[in-house]
Amino acid sequence: MDILGTLYDEVVGFLGISQALELLQTGDYSVFSTYDGVVSLIYPIIPLLLLLEFILGLVYKKPNTKVYKVNFLIYVFNRFIGRFIAIAMVTLIIGWLQPYALFQTKMTWYWFIYGYIVWEFGHFLYHYWGHKVRLFWCLHSTHHAPEQMNLSVTHAHFFLEAPYADAIRTTVCILLGVEPVLLFLIMFIDSTYGAFIHIGENMMKDGRMGFLNKVILTPSHHRVHHARNPLYMDTNFCNLLNIWDKVFGTYQEEQHDIQIEYGITRKMNSGNFLDVYFGEFVALFKDVAKAPGLKNKLLYIIMPPGWSHTGEHQTSKLVRGTYLREHLSKE
Ligand SMILES: [Zn+2]
Ligand SMILES: [Zn+2]
Repeated sequence: MDILGTLYDEVVGFLGISQALELLQTGDYSVFSTYDGVVSLIYPIIPLLLLLEFILGLVYKKPNTKVYKVNFLIYVFNRFIGRFIAIAMVTLIIGWLQPYALFQTKMTWYWFIYGYIVWEFGHFLYHYWGHKVRLFWCLHSTHHAPEQMNLSVTHAHFFLEAPYADAIRTTVCILLGVEPVLLFLIMFIDSTYGAFIHIGENMMKDGRMGFLNKVILTPSHHRVHHARNPLYMDTNFCNLLNIWDKVFGTYQEEQHDIQIEYGITRKMNSGNFLDVYFGEFVALFKDVAKAPGLKNKLLYIIMPPGWSHTGEHQTSKLVRGTYLREHLSKE
């Protein structure tokens, strides 16, 4: 764990969250309502701005395709505020919920595995609802707008998605006993691997990674998740360990004869920052405005994307179900 530990210390140090971690380790979580506690939450702003400045200089000189351009704009837009809210969300939830934890894990390898499985469960919940509840889809759809896969897609997120995701993941982990230091370690590994699975076909043509495709979630699985092909829609919600996809029946392997089409089904301009970022909110607003009665208006907000008050639903479940029925009947 030495190298990992050093790496972890470096990242934590750079992000300026070491003070918050120190406070956490005292076990007295009420300090987050004190001056020192608040300062420890605000402290990460400056290092993040510095990182932003560095990347601005590095990247902006050679803008690439429209995917890179829009994702970079999103990155700039989010980096400071989204990250800060997410870190604040994580620390606040730890402070609030730690007293209600069922038990406490320790820093051992088997608790690490337990923690990772619990974290993946929290990730599955956040991600599944991000696809199945229209309001949460508004937060998540920015990530699915790119019509090509490359590492910049990692940064394509609506700024309120990180706090929403971390609220769910942190709540699940803390209540199920994952101790904060272990949680931060898992978060670091998971965000690194979560970025890697967006590696494009230019750098890794076959994302299956050999036998690993049977054991863990690979770039191939995540490419399938980003596809709008009927068979691939709303599958592979996990991040590294895809056990929960297998448990809940959302596991789908990449088929050799089905070329992935990236993007979302709504007609949109994926090169337009405003459409990528706010397009789903606009579409939801229009549907709510035209829906008759309060009940229908509310249902548009909480039902899956594609639900219609007229009964002519176009949800991914129906589209995929129709595809599977037609496909199976041909065989
Ligand atoms: Zn998704
Ligand atoms: Zn993704």
